[in-house]
Amino acid sequence: MRKIFDFHGGIHPPENKHQSVQRPIAFAGVPPELTIPLSQHIGAPAVPVVEVGQRVFKGQVIAQPKGLVSVPVHASSSGTVTAIEDRLVPHISGHSAPCIVIATDGKDEWLPDIGDSATPDFEHIDKPELLERIRAAGIAGMGGAGFPSAVKLAVKPGVQIETLILNGTECEPYITADDVLMRERAAQIIGGARILRHIINPQETLLGIEDNKPEALAAMRAAVADTDLQVVEFPTKYPSGGEKQLIEILTGKQVPSGGLPSDVGIVCQNMGSAAAIYDAIVLGRPLISRITTVTGDAVREPRNFEVLIGTPMRYLLQQAGYEAGKNNRLIMGGPMMGFTVPDHAVPVVKTTNCLLAPTEAELPTPPPAQACIRCGLCAQACPASLLPQQMFWFAQGKEFDKLEEHNLFDCIECGACSYVCPSNIPLVQYYRASKAEILKLRRDHEKSEHSRLRFEARQERLERAEREKEEKRAARKQAAEAKAREASSAGSGEQDPIAAAIERAKAKKAAQSAGEDSSSELEKLEKAVVSTRKRLDTALAKLREAKDQGADHIDALQAGVDKTQAKLRAAEEALNAYQLANASTNGQNDAGAEQPTSDDSAPSAAQAAIERALAAREAEAALPPQERARANLEKLQQRLASSRAKLAQSRDAGEAEKVIEALESSVERLTEKIAAAKQQLQDLESA
Ligand code: SF4
Ligand code: SF4
Repeated sequence: MRKIFDFHGGIHPPENKHQSVQRPIAFAGVPPELTIPLSQHIGAPAVPVVEVGQRVFKGQVIAQPKGLVSVPVHASSSGTVTAIEDRLVPHISGHSAPCIVIATDGKDEWLPDIGDSATPDFEHIDKPELLERIRAAGIAGMGGAGFPSAVKLAVKPGVQIETLILNGTECEPYITADDVLMRERAAQIIGGARILRHIINPQETLLGIEDNKPEALAAMRAAVADTDLQVVEFPTKYPSGGEKQLIEILTGKQVPSGGLPSDVGIVCQNMGSAAAIYDAIVLGRPLISRITTVTGDAVREPRNFEVLIGTPMRYLLQQAGYEAGKNNRLIMGGPMMGFTVPDHAVPVVKTTNCLLAPTEAELPTPPPAQACIRCGLCAQACPASLLPQQMFWFAQGKEFDKLEEHNLFDCIECGACSYVCPSNIPLVQYYRASKAEILKLRRDHEKSEHSRLRFEARQERLERAEREKEEKRAARKQAAEAKAREASSAGSGEQDPIAAAIERAKAKKAAQSAGEDSSSELEKLEKAVVSTRKRLDTALAKLREAKDQGADHIDALQAGVDKTQAKLRAAEEALNAYQLANASTNGQNDAGAEQPTSDDSAPSAAQAAIERALAAREAEAALPPQERARANLEKLQQRLASSRAKLAQSRDAGEAEKVIEALESSVERLTEKIAAAKQQLQDLESA
């Protein structure tokens, strides 16, 4: 005899199960319309893969899972998709959610290839493939929260599962869906249990059933007779069906706060899930229906129905002889953990184990809550060993940190505390609301954290782009400067030295002019005439030389000469005008009159250099053509040597590519010029 353990707390409410077990399971039929929610499980909602107007078959996938914790959704009967929209769904908050609506055609026609994947000898299929088939069949825990079974069965690598538990407890008053399933479909459940054993390879498999289900116990014992599966009977107490409580009853192990059963080497599955796994693997059929108890004094024929997922509750109630006038409220689930259904049009989903339609006498509206008298009964009843009274205070004050410190999330919402509370305080409702608020705050925090990270990433991206732009701008500027230097360098290499000297002299003169307050206007005008005259001489010399060489830029040089001549005339006229004006005002011999000075009388170093350069140019021009060509070649060769040295320097200094390119181009041009100069010299010599 296996040792049975007990858990802390618990209660014994009236069971009221006998009403619905008098009749066998009946097929509820095909309603005219099915409303199938895309999310009937914990995790991401499935994504529709059908369109409005499309005909669908029974068992056809109409929405695919999104993400790992998600399962597909199948059409429960054949018909036409008439809408994909938000509809009211069974949820404690009474909210709407996306659904696929199918107008059934009454043919209840299976998808033609349904059953093709049926594999009675599943032992030959590897475990990942079996898990994928379970997921593809849309199986999510049918006894509670709707956790995808494939995810629950995919235990972490290296974790050894000692015990597989099939939960046949069904401790809530009124609900008998698993009870009748075990009575009528024990072989199907055991078939599912064998598949589960094959997947997780436990050392033992236990089927936990309360002693208030003698028929179910008998049926399951008969079904496991030739196997090593064990049916374990234990005393009825609410809420023995809680996963952690059942684990403690059967093994004495306690799942740590916030932990999973696999942390203590256990996997738990619901009886309905085991049957659905059998259908999926052995028969190749997806989960499109479930057993639902319809009970309460407001239905004439309480019983269990096999109900197509998506069947409106109104339709199902009619099958059980619903008397609306007697019913004070419709509850999905049992009286302890269920919630009031806001509208009878909401559909049956994979987790709808019971529709309870009580009368007022049967399940009176709770009286108004009174003040807590600190009796401590709630703590005595709590199966999770929590402190419901303290949690109530924290929930009222919205002290969420304290609630979490008091392990609010270990509360299984069994309602035992509310049940025993003499002050009729709906304690469990406070906990549910607090959990929802905390989860919302967490989601909001995650969202804002996500937004913050996105904002920071965007800022960083913008700053990086700005930096890169700035770097490019600086590189462009550097390149432009280098180009200018190169142009200047190349220009100074190629520019007429006389012209360059004149420019330098002009600049120096301009600087002197700006700084010499004592310079007279007359002096400036005289200097302008002299310097312009010299520029004209230079331009004329260039023009002569170009003409001698038959160069192709004679027109440009001629234009320069014309321009300089015009400037000279203007400068001379300005000087004459000034002298005339002074003569008429002061008289030419008045004392103190400004005496003209001449550049010739005090030539500057620059002007002396200009003079030397002019003399050199004149001397060069006087040379015979052959000598002049040789002198030109020598100058070009010197400039080439200088340009090459600059190029080498720039390369060593790692200057910008554009600078290097400009210098390379200068070297190329000079090389070409040298080749031309050599050719010219050769021609002259040969002539
Ligand atoms: S059972 Fe009710 S009255 Fe008693 S301590 Fe708990 S909350 Fe207060
Ligand atoms: S509802 Fe939560 S706090 Fe109340 S008895 Fe159940 S587990 Fe304990």
